[in-house]
Amino acid sequence: MEKICVAVRVRPPVSLETSGGVFWKVEDNRVSLHRQHDTPVSGTSYAFDHVFEETCSNARVYELLTKDIIHAAVEGFNGTVFAYGQTSSGKTFTMNGSADNPGVISLGVKDIFDAIQMMSNREFLVRVSYMEIYNEEINDLLAVENQKLQIHESLEHGVFVAGLREEIVNSAEQVLKLIESGEVNRHFGETNMNVRSSRSHTIFRMVIESKGKDNDSSSTDAIRVSVLNLVDLAGSERIAKTGADGVRLKEGKHINKSLMALGNVINKLSDGVKQRGHIPYRDSKLTRILQPALGGNAKTSIICTIAPEEDHIEETKGTLQFASRAKRITNCVQVNEILTDAALLKRQKLEIEELRRKLQGSHAGVLEQEILKLRNDMLKYELEREKLQLELEEERRSRKERDQCVREQQMRLQNHNSLVTSSGGNGSHSEEQNSKRQSFCEECSDSNGICQGGAFRTPCSKAAPNAFVVKRSNYSRLPEYSPLPDTFSNVADEDTWLKMNKGYIADLDSLQMTPATKVQSFPLNDGTPGCSNENYRDVQKLKRQLENVTEEKNEFQRKYSEEKILNARLTGEISELRQEVLVIREIPRRLYESVVSSKDFYEDLLCSMKSFAADGESSTAKKLVSISEIGSSLFSTLETNFLMAMDGDKSFSNNDSLVREQCKVFCEKLKSTISALILSEKAPIDNKQGKNSPCSCNNKVVCASSLWLFLTYNISFRNEALTLLIAVKGCAQEEESTCWKEKLSSELNTIKEKYHGLEKDLDLNNKFLETSKEMYDSLEREFRLLQEERDSLLNKVSESSQTLTMVTDQKENVLKDYNTEVEKKKNLEEEIKQFSAAFACRQKSLVSFHSDLKSKIEKLRAQNPVSVPKSRG
Ligand code: ADP
Ligand code: MG
Repeated sequence: MEKICVAVRVRPPVSLETSGGVFWKVEDNRVSLHRQHDTPVSGTSYAFDHVFEETCSNARVYELLTKDIIHAAVEGFNGTVFAYGQTSSGKTFTMNGSADNPGVISLGVKDIFDAIQMMSNREFLVRVSYMEIYNEEINDLLAVENQKLQIHESLEHGVFVAGLREEIVNSAEQVLKLIESGEVNRHFGETNMNVRSSRSHTIFRMVIESKGKDNDSSSTDAIRVSVLNLVDLAGSERIAKTGADGVRLKEGKHINKSLMALGNVINKLSDGVKQRGHIPYRDSKLTRILQPALGGNAKTSIICTIAPEEDHIEETKGTLQFASRAKRITNCVQVNEILTDAALLKRQKLEIEELRRKLQGSHAGVLEQEILKLRNDMLKYELEREKLQLELEEERRSRKERDQCVREQQMRLQNHNSLVTSSGGNGSHSEEQNSKRQSFCEECSDSNGICQGGAFRTPCSKAAPNAFVVKRSNYSRLPEYSPLPDTFSNVADEDTWLKMNKGYIADLDSLQMTPATKVQSFPLNDGTPGCSNENYRDVQKLKRQLENVTEEKNEFQRKYSEEKILNARLTGEISELRQEVLVIREIPRRLYESVVSSKDFYEDLLCSMKSFAADGESSTAKKLVSISEIGSSLFSTLETNFLMAMDGDKSFSNNDSLVREQCKVFCEKLKSTISALILSEKAPIDNKQGKNSPCSCNNKVVCASSLWLFLTYNISFRNEALTLLIAVKGCAQEEESTCWKEKLSSELNTIKEKYHGLEKDLDLNNKFLETSKEMYDSLEREFRLLQEERDSLLNKVSESSQTLTMVTDQKENVLKDYNTEVEKKKNLEEEIKQFSAAFACRQKSLVSFHSDLKSKIEKLRAQNPVSVPKSRG
């Protein structure tokens, strides 16, 4: 366990004018607030590992605070140095420095390469990356196109930013040039407090890998991998002070939020291991990236910069409190070694040998136990390895099955496609689809080849050269970026983690909190992240193809369902049409039947008409005869036509014109007959001869109406029927008017009666209304009186309640007086009792004294018998 090293650096004041009030005083490793005349302000003194005064150079800060971390990073320890403080307090100055006063980063970079030079027994590979967190988004400063990068966590790489460009470097100059190019992409902005204020947190990261040289006899195959983070935080700021608005305001909010998250993490960590609980690393990107540095496996230094000016006192106090809390944090630091399987066995063998040797000594029993334990561990490892192998086999099998499934799906789709194309007849399209599918199948089988060859082997299985740096740089160079997550590596980002653990949610925070496993193993030759990236690309390609096929399948399914709907609609329409056809086929039969019934009706009608023209000689009678002939021929033509239609003979439609002709002639004749009938009957009405006129007129009306009905029965004769109807209308009107008159007069009478009744009702109602009105008025008067009465009563009540309260008060007073009087009386009685007792007592004593005196006098008298004047006695 190792405590975080915390230092405070005071920036020189901006102007040389000394402020009249208070100032920060630096003594040894202590900084405190003093008033003028050097009197300290209580509660404002803070002690740290180092406190650098205004005149201190960057080189000294580096020497005392970061040099050790830099050297430890070369040895395989993770390291983090970050600058914290308010805007314009000198964070960027400390980290980046200036031309004549180089900052911590450039000094550290130079030192790393010097240290590497010194360690002749190890080979090194150094990679650098440079990123910024701007508005909670991670941007790559070495590759501008890499924006909004995501943070992931894996067992092998720890917390890392996926897709971040990593440059392999071999000299300090190369690194400094890269930083310079990255600086150009950094977000700066002007605020009231700093002309070039950093608006983002920047993280310069170096990954140092090393391995003992092969000719070194003591070396194992272990590779040390350490990560060094040099962080320049954006300054916390008070919006009012910086005068930020618009973009600056938004930036400021993000900066403050992430710094607050950092403060929270520090607070939690400073609580001590037992009280810590959940550490909210995930509240911001900054804390997530700095997770290993805060409470994890890293040597960490924090430089807290403060501004000495009086108007920054509050911010300075805040920074110093943050620093004090950070001082309490402890990290669990150890060298990060990655071992190959061979190296692991070698290491264990050495340890067993070592134990054997010790076994010769005094603690034989204990050591033997240890050996046994180790053997057990080894067995356990073996078992675990076997289990993993089984799981691997399982995974391969399930993958094969999945592929098989995809192929089957593919076949089904092809079948479906051929079905659709054969029905749609679009040959060229189907060919295109087929060729697409063919190519997919080929690609699919290719990828299967790769996967079956070794599910976890990358396609780039070229034998890598043996030298460590070449090998590692091959791994690093291939992707040119920090590892990307994929489903086949041991990535522990939340989603993949969830999938890999079949629903079990691992708390990644707690993962990081547990002491880091010192020894990790991974197959060096075929499991490198570089290869995994190739694999990842293949998988991505396959995924894309699968997505395309799925999309096509969905498209087909959509079309199929559309066609299904259309088909159903068409089937519905066809069945409707069939119904209609059935109905149409029924029509000739029905028409035939109606013709037959019409014929009967017609014959009856004609008979009754003939009876009106009973003489048989009149023109009407003659016309009726001819009508009956034409009518019967018309009906027989119609009957034969409809019979033919019923038998399915289509020639009947040709007779249509003939039928119409016949029908026309028939109608003409019928019309003239009816008009003749009307004329013959009108004369007697006009001359007012014959009492039967209304009756005969009625008959005519009935007759004409029947004819009209009959004619309208056949739609084609409707016009003729209308003409007829108009002709008979005149006659009918007369009849109707007399009937109506009678009806109207009777109705008028009833209405009149009703009206009289209603008038009476109205009178009654009016009277009732008046009485009601009077009653209402009297009630209103009563109500008003009652209201007045109620008001007066209320007044009286309030008065009485007042008097009551008064009386109650008085009563209470009287009661009090009475009580005091009673008390007094009691006292008096007591006194009287005492007095009477005393009096009785006195009386008694007086009586006894009197009797004594009397007896004495008696005695004296007896002794002196001198007579005493009686009057005295
Ligand atoms: P920050 O990054 O905290 O916002 P800067 O590092 O940009 O602040 O510093 C603001 C200004 O103060 C710069 O002009 C810088 O040169 C100057 N400055 C800060 N610290 C020192 C120092 N220790 N010595 C000299 N100048 C400094
Ligand atoms: Mg800055």
